[in-house]
Amino acid sequence: MSETSKQTAFATRCIHGGDPVDPATGAVMPPIVTASTYRQRAFGERQDYYYSRTRNPTREALERCVAELESGNHGIAYASGMAATAGVLELLDSGSHVVAPRDLYGGSLRLFRELRSRSAGLRFSFVDFTDLDAVAAAIGPRTRLIWVETPSNPLLKLFDLAALASLAQQRGLLLAVDNTFATPCLQRPLELGADIVMHSTTKYLGGHSDVIGGINVLRDAELARRLHSLRTTVGSVPGPFDAYLVLRGVKTLALRMERHEANARELAEWLGRQAGVSRVYYPGLTNHPQHALARRQMQGFGGMLAFDLDGDVARFMNALRVFTVGESLGGVESLAGHPATMSHSNLNAAQRAELGIGEQLIRLSVGIEAAADLRADLATALAAAA
Ligand SMILES: *Cc1c(COP(=O)(O)O)cnc(C)c1O
Repeated sequence: MSETSKQTAFATRCIHGGDPVDPATGAVMPPIVTASTYRQRAFGERQDYYYSRTRNPTREALERCVAELESGNHGIAYASGMAATAGVLELLDSGSHVVAPRDLYGGSLRLFRELRSRSAGLRFSFVDFTDLDAVAAAIGPRTRLIWVETPSNPLLKLFDLAALASLAQQRGLLLAVDNTFATPCLQRPLELGADIVMHSTTKYLGGHSDVIGGINVLRDAELARRLHSLRTTVGSVPGPFDAYLVLRGVKTLALRMERHEANARELAEWLGRQAGVSRVYYPGLTNHPQHALARRQMQGFGGMLAFDLDGDVARFMNALRVFTVGESLGGVESLAGHPATMSHSNLNAAQRAELGIGEQLIRLSVGIEAAADLRADLATALAAAA
């Protein structure tokens, strides 16, 4: 990728990133190559494509595009966001130690705490990442990786990526950032010094709630080669149809994020004025504890928000008509979730309370419908909950 293409405006890169045009036919979208295997041109001759677990042209078109959006040089796509996260852990030798935030996506927490500590002998420290001294203090002689996710789920806390990158660099550690909530449209961790950016492409990159996928993006060629080889070994690749769906979704990422954000901002401000709402969590609000950091580190505040409902949660949820009650986020449709019984139900009440996740907390993935309809829907539900 040329330096000029890196400097091209983001919306243009969403559409032209990674040169998707098929050189053989001029097709503006790359073909979906379903072949598992490829004919050898001549016996014994080395060629680029020979088996699709290793390399597949449709997957590579997606990888080039997202790598360019993240200001990286290499993309490695996976069957899911969790597979991408697991791929990063495969870089570590058994006995290695990882520092991660207490506020962590539930699936990552389970992978770290329950699976890889048992199956790979990895050790994890979960600390409060708003306190950089606590992060530094958790680093020990066997620490190899700092894993972080910002904005966090579901409370939209922010962690300082530039500061974490310089800490990681000083201590000779890798910094990996789960950038799913922000998207490269609003936050580019590699530009702030991170080594690896991870996405669940299931969310905003796919954008239409019709595919499960993941990706890691890097600048370092040797680290990328290792990750690629580990993925080939484990076999955690996405199918070509799924790669195509994500690439298709990415085309409209800039446009969608503009609307997600405009809607979320409007709803966050409006919710803050409602009697049935005791607190709103949204990085774009000036009263958000890391609002200044959000302005510095992000190019926008995104489409996710949460709030504490002063009313009956079940009545609120059941009254929603435009918002769909469901897991996940980042699709065109607005979703409402209740972390205590949904995403964070595997924690007990005391563990949730420690993270600040109350029983009244509602999380919204604000979609791209007309803002007035979303507001009216919330107004009806708040009235039903009162
Ligand atoms: C959804 C999600 C994941 C896991 O991704 P899958 O595609 O569901 O495997 C990881 N991190 C965050 C922040 C997510 O929202």
